[in-house]
Amino acid sequence: MADQGKPKYAFFKGSIVPLAEATIGVMTHAFNYGTGVFGGLRGYWNDDEAQLFVFRPHDHFERLIQSARLMRIDVGYSASELVDILTDLLRAEGFRENIYIRPLAYKSSEMIGVRLHDVEDAFTVFALPFGRYVDKEEGLHVGFSAWRRVDDNAIPARGKVTGAYANSALIKTDAQLAGYDEALVLNQDGHVSEASAANVFVVRKGVVYTPPVESNVLEGIVRRSVIDLLRDELDLTVVERNIDRTEVYIADEVFLCGTGVQVAAITKVEHRDIGSGQMGEITRGVRNLFFDVVSGRAPDYRHWLTPVYTKEPVQSR
Ligand code: PMP
Repeated sequence: MADQGKPKYAFFKGSIVPLAEATIGVMTHAFNYGTGVFGGLRGYWNDDEAQLFVFRPHDHFERLIQSARLMRIDVGYSASELVDILTDLLRAEGFRENIYIRPLAYKSSEMIGVRLHDVEDAFTVFALPFGRYVDKEEGLHVGFSAWRRVDDNAIPARGKVTGAYANSALIKTDAQLAGYDEALVLNQDGHVSEASAANVFVVRKGVVYTPPVESNVLEGIVRRSVIDLLRDELDLTVVERNIDRTEVYIADEVFLCGTGVQVAAITKVEHRDIGSGQMGEITRGVRNLFFDVVSGRAPDYRHWLTPVYTKEPVQSR
C-alpha cells in the first residue's frame, strides 16, 4: 500500500473534534462483533481550479444508509446531511491533495450480547491524504483465492459490513503471502465474484462482462460509473452475467475497479498472461476516462463531483 497521511480531525459524536479525541472503548459492540458498516470515498485535488472534488458522495452515502438498514443501524443523518458534514470536515482539514474518506456507522453500546436490536448506534467520518491503494495499477498479478466470497445468506456482500471484511482480509493476505498482488474470489456457486475490495470486469472479443449484483458482490459506485463510461463514451456493449473462472484465463483483458484500486489492469492470473500480458486498449481507455472524470477534466461528468471549497465572492472595488 502506498503513501498515506494522517487526519487532523474526525466527525465524532455530532461534531468535528481533534482525531485524538475520536476514540471508542474496548467494550464497544462493533469492535467486539463486527456490527458496523462503512464506506470509502476519494477526493481528487485539481490544481488548475484549486479545488478538491469528492467523487459521488451522495451515492456513497446512500449506499452507506442501505448497508446500515441491513444491519438495523440508524445512521442518524440523510445522505444530503452526510455530504454537508463531510464538506465541513474537509474544509476544516484544508486538504490540497488527493484524499481518502472513511465514514462508519456502527453499534456503539458498551455491552456484551450478540444481536442488532436494542443497541445504540453512532456515526463517524475521517479523511486522510492518500495515494495509490495498489502499487501496480498498470498490471496486477492475481491468483484465484481458495476462500469463497461471503454469501448473501450469511453476511450480505451488498452491505459493506465491517465484520465481513475478515473475509476480504483472509483473501488479500493469503494472496500476497503467496506472491500475488491481489486475488479473485469465487462465490458459493463457483462463479467469479470480485477481488478482496474491488469489482472485476472481463473483456472477450470486444464485449465487456461483469458479474451481476446478485452474485455476492458489493454494488460498487465505481463499477456503476465504469459501466456508464464504457457504454456512453466508448460505445461498448457491457453485459452483467455470471463469469466462469476459465473465462478469466482466456480473456483478452481483465481489470478491477473500486474507490481504492481506481481502475487497475490485471495482466496475469497465476501462471497465465491475460491477453498480451500488457494493459489492453479498453482498460487503458476507460482508465484514462475515469481519471479525467474524477479530477474534473470531463465537463459532461461534473455532476458526479462535489466541490469542497466554495469560491470566495469576487471583491468589488
Ligand atoms: N467490492 C468490495 C468488496 C469492496 O470493498 C469495494 C470497495 N468499496 C468495491 C467492491 C468497490 O466499490 P466502490 O466502487 O464503491 O468503491
